[in-house]
Amino acid sequence: MAAVTEVAVTREMNSASGLMLVCTLFLASVTSAQNNANWTFTPYHVQGNVHMLEPINTNGNVGVFVGEDAVLLVDSHFQPSVPQLLDEVGEMSDQEIEFVINTHVHPDHIGGNSLLADYGVTIVAHDTVRLQMLEELRIPRNGGTFFPQPPANALPVLSYSEAISFHLNGEEVRVFKAPPAHTGGDSFVYFMGSDVLHLGDVFRTNMYPIVDKYNGGSFLGMIEAMGLAIGMAGPNTKVIPGHGPGFTDRTGMMEYQDMLFALRDLVAEAIARGDSLDEILAADLTRDLDDRWLGDTNWGPLDLLPIIHEELMAQ
Ligand SMILES: [Zn+2]
Repeated sequence: MAAVTEVAVTREMNSASGLMLVCTLFLASVTSAQNNANWTFTPYHVQGNVHMLEPINTNGNVGVFVGEDAVLLVDSHFQPSVPQLLDEVGEMSDQEIEFVINTHVHPDHIGGNSLLADYGVTIVAHDTVRLQMLEELRIPRNGGTFFPQPPANALPVLSYSEAISFHLNGEEVRVFKAPPAHTGGDSFVYFMGSDVLHLGDVFRTNMYPIVDKYNGGSFLGMIEAMGLAIGMAGPNTKVIPGHGPGFTDRTGMMEYQDMLFALRDLVAEAIARGDSLDEILAADLTRDLDDRWLGDTNWGPLDLLPIIHEELMAQ
């Protein structure tokens, strides 16, 4: 039996001319039993002004930045989860959501954009993400899977090329482009006062990295990007991964980086021995890593090793 929920979002915006625009938007959504089961989040207070919403199946962890000015979200998960997302944010803050930063183009990170934009939330992302959303929406699994193009209002209204800062809630939120890694348009978000990093899917704690060659990703770039993040982090820095349970810290990033180094070295050593790609794929090179990192039947060494091989051969 479906239930209907109604969520009212009231926003007050001061324009440069001093006009006040008040718009009240209503979302009438049908929340089925499936919705309630699949679109719920586990909330965490990470540190300072930053919270995290972990979807029940850990796809697309959402960062929530709160304070006296406004709410800023990092990523918007899928559209059907937006009512639950709003409920959870409402538990964390009385302020309106002003901004969503998309860390990259994948559907589990931009899916809620359109509904949130309907409420007046400003969508922000790297220039590349906007272009990718205009061209074709695709994920790397199963040899490149296409998704329906997002509606026009899901596109970023603000995009940046190198970095952009938000000055909100008493601190600076620095958003900057990572080297090509998970995709070619990955943003890292650093909440400087709270000392929290959100790294999107460049960093995941639950499985081997996904390198999206269809959207400009790079395995060697991922090593570079993680080196950058690790170099920024101090002993008290907390880190939100794009996927994986809970948040972690510098040590968690270094564990992931060690796995990236191990994969690179295993393939490099096989190339140095003269092994072909077929021999590399048949050799079960990752057997000592699989217990910890083989978390997904749709993406594993047979997907990742050819990418590493191709990049190393091109060097
Ligand atoms: Zn992704």
